[in-house]
Amino acid sequence: MREHRGSVMALKTVKVPREIEPLFARVEPIVADYFSARISNPTRGTIEIGGQRYILIRAASLSTEFFQLVRRLYGGGRDAEADNFARNMLFDLGHAIGKSDAECFHEKMHLEDPIARLSAGPIHFAHSGWAFVDISSESNPSADKNYYLLYDHPYSFEADAWLRGGQRSSAPVCVMNAGYSSGWCEASFGIPLVSVEILCRAAGDSVCRFIMAPPETIAERVEQYVKCRPHLAARMHTGTVPELFARKRAEEQVFRQNSLLSVMNRLLRKSLGSASAEELAKFCLGEAQQLTRSQAGFIGALNAAGRFDMIAVTGSNVPAARQNLPIRGIWGKVLHSGQSAIVNDPFGDPDGIETACGCLTSTPFLGVPLRDGEKVTGMVGLVNKKAGYDQADLEAIESLGSAFAEILAHKQVQTDEAAVPCVSAASVVAANAAAAQVGG
Ligand SMILES: [Zn+2]
Repeated sequence: MREHRGSVMALKTVKVPREIEPLFARVEPIVADYFSARISNPTRGTIEIGGQRYILIRAASLSTEFFQLVRRLYGGGRDAEADNFARNMLFDLGHAIGKSDAECFHEKMHLEDPIARLSAGPIHFAHSGWAFVDISSESNPSADKNYYLLYDHPYSFEADAWLRGGQRSSAPVCVMNAGYSSGWCEASFGIPLVSVEILCRAAGDSVCRFIMAPPETIAERVEQYVKCRPHLAARMHTGTVPELFARKRAEEQVFRQNSLLSVMNRLLRKSLGSASAEELAKFCLGEAQQLTRSQAGFIGALNAAGRFDMIAVTGSNVPAARQNLPIRGIWGKVLHSGQSAIVNDPFGDPDGIETACGCLTSTPFLGVPLRDGEKVTGMVGLVNKKAGYDQADLEAIESLGSAFAEILAHKQVQTDEAAVPCVSAASVVAANAAAAQVGG
């Protein structure tokens, strides 16, 4: 590490508010030293900087040409959808690279202070050819929810790729710049950060300007900025806040759908075997518990007397009486109303105290009715998911509920056709189904 050789006004690779210039001035020569140790060896196809392998990538291939490729893959008439996909993908990629580069650089250069860690980012950025960084004095880089960074990236490689290719975009294009810078700062401050570009040269603006903040405050920060600059409001692009969390939710939805399909497949295989209706009900209950991370539950059916028979039940306090139970309490509401219910605070629910099982009231509860057509024939009850139940749990069990009812009823018909007397409570499912058909 060499000593800083110039005054604080001698910053060459970044522009920052005067009060934090000294911090950047201390780090600038450190980063310069790092990049001066570059060894390029084309005979082996390697570039090394500071002992790390680097690769050179042509800027346009990661920007305008990538957008074009994705548009071709999506096909005609889907440009907006394609651009959104490309934008999200490039943001995530930039964010991951920025975060990873920062962690590596901080460790290698023994940088501990968050501002010192941040200050290496824009300088690293400049040396690696992404852009020059100009940080506004309005910024407030603090390691909490008040974090706010307002900055420009003159000479952004992405905007240049579009402009040099003679192309204009209707929205900002410097998404890797936004991703990389927020990834670097996230690693520097140890808090989640995202960045959005509100003005972009590739979209006809005079600058590429970004706002960086925690995900929960970024929309508010952008709104505040626009309010204070009504003359710029018409030009600003405020609808491109990175959708990191929307994508996360989409991934979770895909995961749940795949899980549901797997359960359906296992259930189908099980139903084709020799399992009894009761065994099938136990199997269904096990799958429902696993899917919702519930520790206990039950599946039961309404009997001819309008009371409740448990078919399968799990948990540490399984009730001794499982047949002909009076319908009341939280779970009774599901049978009476025919509506699924989530009760995460049973003691706060007026119906929460009274229950047929006595053991199911003190923990979060999810109840889903089983039906034959419109008629309620039974229900699935799940309890004790530590985090409480949510809408996704409810929808998953509702999806499975129709399969549960169908398979249990079908199994009972098979049993009856085989002329095997069956007095298990599961027979009530088929009995009620038949009654409903006659009644309908
Ligand atoms: Zn831009």
